[in-house]
Amino acid sequence: MAYDLTNPIYNDEEAARKHFEGIRWPHGVSCPHCGTVDNSVEMQGKSTRAGVYKCRDCRKPFTATVGTVYERSKIPMHKWLLATHLICASKKGISAHQLFRMLGFGSYRTAWFMAHRIREAMTDVAPAPIGGGGEGVEMDETYFGPKNEIVKRTKKGKASHSSKRSVVVLVERKGKTKMFHVERADKKTVLDIIRDHVKPETKLYTDDSALYWEASAFVANHSVVKHTAGEYVRGISHTNTVEGLFGVFKRGMKGTYQHCGEQHLHRYLSEFEFRYNNRDKLGCDDNARTEKLIKATEGKRLTYQQVGSRAA
Ligand SMILES: [Zn+2]
Repeated sequence: MAYDLTNPIYNDEEAARKHFEGIRWPHGVSCPHCGTVDNSVEMQGKSTRAGVYKCRDCRKPFTATVGTVYERSKIPMHKWLLATHLICASKKGISAHQLFRMLGFGSYRTAWFMAHRIREAMTDVAPAPIGGGGEGVEMDETYFGPKNEIVKRTKKGKASHSSKRSVVVLVERKGKTKMFHVERADKKTVLDIIRDHVKPETKLYTDDSALYWEASAFVANHSVVKHTAGEYVRGISHTNTVEGLFGVFKRGMKGTYQHCGEQHLHRYLSEFEFRYNNRDKLGCDDNARTEKLIKATEGKRLTYQQVGSRAA
């Protein structure tokens, strides 16, 4: 089934609810209170809204959104599904301002919190190390934008690396990525990431930055590209994959999320990571990616309240 934007699930509330229930409960209506499957009835009556079920075992009422990031929201399900689709299908992300205009909300803040709930669903809750017997893992770090504190300037007036936000990235060739916002991209931080997130039997590719000099302590093989000597590709020894990924990420942060506060950066990293790890080349098109994310809304109630005045 194709879920282009003309699909009724994006403008008809009943169709949207049925669609969500189908993804949430593939084996029949499932009670979130006691876990009983396929033993609930939809409640009827004029004062009851559609989609409220009552469990025959524990007698408690519930809807399909209980226990998901969509829970306790006044936003109709068809708008949730549409926003979820738009975020999944937009390579460089979609701003809350854009969602606000496209979805006809009363306020920009509504769109902003909605987008953050969707990003919460994009977070990988059980991350496993990458690499191993594949084509190898590339690693690199990038610096961009100002940190929240006062930007330190070098003598020439340029913002120095340490005054910028640091992001360290691992990406497996033809595979998945892991993106980290770190306080400081120093040797210890980088080595900790390798130890915790890369399988020991991996072949690791980096540039010749001193940050990675001790990487071979944690991986089977460490191949270095001498960027400082003007070398960019030596056979299979390159970091082109990670640089391509940085390109998409930076264009997104510059063009779409330029007002992102540093305290929210990890959420945007989750978003870019999710799209990359579920990309077309891995057999995941816009529809499949959206469906996967709708499924991943489970068990991820947003843990933060409406705090923080910075909105992006
Ligand atoms: Zn129950």
